[in-house]
Amino acid sequence: MKNANSLIKEINANDQKIGYEQNNSFVKRKLEQALSSNTLSSNVQSSLLGFVALREFDHCSETKNCLDFAKKALELNPKNWRALTVLAFNSFYTGDIEGHSSYLEEALKSVPNSIRLLNALLNVSLAHNQPQIIQKHLSMAALNNNTKKLSKKLELYSTDTPRELTKIDKHLVMLSGVSHCGSTYLGHFFSAHDDVECFGESHRISMYSSEARGEKTQNSNSKFAPCHSCGDTECKQFPDNFREEIRNNPEHYYKKIAQRSSAQTVVFGDKNYSITRKLDPKANFNEIVLFKKPENAYKSQYKHRKTQPIDTPSLRSVNAYLRVYTDSYSNLMLPHCNDNKRIFLNWESFIANPEVHIPKLSHMLQSKLDGNVFGSFGLIGHSFGGNADVNRDHKRNNSKIKKDTSTILPEKLLLEAQNNYYAMVVYRRMMKLYQKSFAIDSL
Ligand SMILES: [Zn+2]
Repeated sequence: MKNANSLIKEINANDQKIGYEQNNSFVKRKLEQALSSNTLSSNVQSSLLGFVALREFDHCSETKNCLDFAKKALELNPKNWRALTVLAFNSFYTGDIEGHSSYLEEALKSVPNSIRLLNALLNVSLAHNQPQIIQKHLSMAALNNNTKKLSKKLELYSTDTPRELTKIDKHLVMLSGVSHCGSTYLGHFFSAHDDVECFGESHRISMYSSEARGEKTQNSNSKFAPCHSCGDTECKQFPDNFREEIRNNPEHYYKKIAQRSSAQTVVFGDKNYSITRKLDPKANFNEIVLFKKPENAYKSQYKHRKTQPIDTPSLRSVNAYLRVYTDSYSNLMLPHCNDNKRIFLNWESFIANPEVHIPKLSHMLQSKLDGNVFGSFGLIGHSFGGNADVNRDHKRNNSKIKKDTSTILPEKLLLEAQNNYYAMVVYRRMMKLYQKSFAIDSL
C-alpha cells in the first residue's frame, strides 16, 4: 500500500457496495496498517487519517476518535483539508466561531472549490454583517462562481450588501428551527389572536409548483405552489402577479408579504437559516428559534416518515437527521446584528408550562397573547408549504392541536439519538440561550 488515494477510492467503493457499517472493519484494519508502517510517507499517513476522520465525522459516530485522527493528520501535514474540515465543524458546533472561520479558510486553500466549506464561510460572513469579511470570503467563493448554487448566493451578496434599510410599519416575526420543531403548533397559537397572522413557509409564495416538493395541485397547469386555503385556484391574498413580482425582485420580501395582511403582527414559518437570510440578509425581523431535545425532534420526524418518506428508519437515518439538526441550529446560533431581537424557545419547557413563556413571547410579537387560547386551532390564513396537510386536517375535523409527545421509537434508534454527541452539544448550548432569553436561572 503506497498510495493513499487508491485506498480512499477502495473504501468509498466498499461504502457504496456493502454499506458504511459493514465496511468499518476493513477501514480500521487499513488505518492500523498505515499507522504502524515505517514505509509510508507522512503525507500518505496524513491523507488516510484525514479521510477516516471526516468519514467518521460525517456519520456522527466515534466522535472522540475522529477528532484524535484529525489532530494526528494535521501534525503530519498541516494542510490536510479533511482534517481541517473536521476541526472547523467541531469548532462550529461547540460555539467557537473564530476557530470555525480560520479552519475553514485554511482548508479552502487546499480545496478552493468546496461548496460545503464556502457555504459555511458565507453563512458566518452574513451573520457578522461586516462588508470587509463578506468581501474577503466572496473573493474566495468567486473562484467557483460557475457553480449554480453558489453563484445564486454570490448574486445575493453582491446585490444586497450594503442594503438600504427602509421603515417597517408591520411587526415581523420569524419562527426558525428544523422540520417538526413545533412551529405549526406555535403558529396556530399565535394566529388565534386577531392582531396576528401566520403565513407558514412563505418562501413558497414565490415558488413555482414545479419547484415545490411534497405537494402537487390537482390542476397541473397551476404555475405557483398551491395555497392551502385556495387550493387549485389562484390565491386570493397573493395573486399570481404579486407572486411573480416578488419572485423577480425579492428585496424586502417579508415586508412586502406583510403589507398584504390586515394584521399588525405577521409571523413567518420559513424556519431555515439559509432561506431566511437569502430572502432577508439583514434579518429585519424578530426571531423565535424553536427547538426540541434531539431525540424528541427525531421522534417527530420519525412519526411523519410515512407522509414524508425521507429515508428508512435505520441508525444512519437517525444520524443523518441529527446532522441536519446540528448544522441548522449551529447556524441559527451564529452571532448576528439583530441578536437582541432573537430568543430561543425550548419546546418541552414551553409545553409543560406555557404561561411562564407568554409574557416574553407577547413582547416579541408586540401582541398581548392569551394563554387561554393555547392549544386551539387558529385561523391560519393563506399558507404555503409543509404544514398545509396538517392545517387542512385540523380545519376539516375542527380539532384541537395535539402535543406531539406520544411517538414510540424503537429502542435502538432512541439510544442512537440520545447518544449523538454533537446534537447534544448544540442542544445544551441552546438551553443556555433559552435560559437567558426567558431569564430562567435553573431548570
Ligand atoms: Zn390563498
